[in-house]
Amino acid sequence: MRIDILSVVPELLTSPFSHSILKRAIAANLVEVHVHNIRDWSVNKHKTVDDYPYGGGAGMVMMVEPIVACIEDLSSQRKYDEIIYMSPDGELFDQPIANRLSMQKNIMILCGHYKGVDERVREKFITREISIGNYVLSGGELAAAVVADSIIRLLPGVLNDETSALSDSFQDNLLAPPVYTRPAEFRGMKVPDVLLSGHAAEIDKWRHDQSVKRTQERRPELLKNE
Ligand code: SAH
Repeated sequence: MRIDILSVVPELLTSPFSHSILKRAIAANLVEVHVHNIRDWSVNKHKTVDDYPYGGGAGMVMMVEPIVACIEDLSSQRKYDEIIYMSPDGELFDQPIANRLSMQKNIMILCGHYKGVDERVREKFITREISIGNYVLSGGELAAAVVADSIIRLLPGVLNDETSALSDSFQDNLLAPPVYTRPAEFRGMKVPDVLLSGHAAEIDKWRHDQSVKRTQERRPELLKNE
């Protein structure tokens, strides 16, 4: 899989892909992540990427030309399954969307900044708009990193234990059960006996029961979707 991220502040996307699981996934060639500076496609002398909004008002708007030049340049090199714009008014990101995107080959993600991008970019060049929650960020970079992270960890071979992603919250509409590691007792707080019992079937049952209980308590609406 290949993910291309378009940004006017590409520096913001350095760290998320330089450590831990995502770094190892890239090093193992399980995914390619390319971050592009939209400014490189600006043709004017000062490499401008934003301008004042028509109609007036506060804030700048990301210009249509450099973004479209960048999208068209990349699209001439390979076919993209999705060209995503990160936006607070997009569809709310969740695990099923991450699952579906993880099955694509090439994805482009456009990060907005300032007041967002010229509407004509969204109308003609974007295939999908995603919000990571009902709040406003100063730019789409952190949101793009969230989406990319959740996709990449689903790719075969990225997590050491292949079944690990399947036992995470939201797969099967259930939240994950509690987890423990050593010591078996800390300040009088004991790890549940069943986890120390070595009985795989009982442990599975306990974990499932805990998942259901936790989901009922915290996110009952997930059970209704089943
Ligand atoms: N004026 C816009 C917000 C612009 S915020 C509005 O009110 O809708 C600047 C950029 O940050 C956006 O273009 C988008 O790319 C990104 N962004 C902000 N909040 C986001 C969210 N909740 N999810 C995804 N991207 C977001």
